[in-house]
Amino acid sequence: MEHLTKEQIEELKNILLKWKEELLKDTQESVGEPLSYEGGDEIDRADAEAERFLTLRTLDRERKLLKKIEYSLTKIEYGTYGICEICSKEIPYERLKARPVANLCIDCKEAQEENE
Ligand SMILES: [Zn+2]
Repeated sequence: MEHLTKEQIEELKNILLKWKEELLKDTQESVGEPLSYEGGDEIDRADAEAERFLTLRTLDRERKLLKKIEYSLTKIEYGTYGICEICSKEIPYERLKARPVANLCIDCKEAQEENE
């Protein structure tokens, strides 16, 4: 990651750490909410189920994102951050700033999406 200055790496690392902190706070708050059926009729119960499902789906997405953030932070430690995992090209700082968990350059990302 020689294409990134120390300051740029530090900045991206801070973004990742802050993001991680927010996500952790968020997931803990969602998990902490108890689900109560008491006193509710059938419709309330259906609503609660739907909401619960949405929460779980969001949590699942957040957990995956957390993993990506952890992964990016590890790569910063090992000095492999900002390098495309397919073609080993440098990922420009602008792209990393817009998406700090990016592990592919734009060309490879687009190629991958076409194959999906
Ligand atoms: Zn690439």
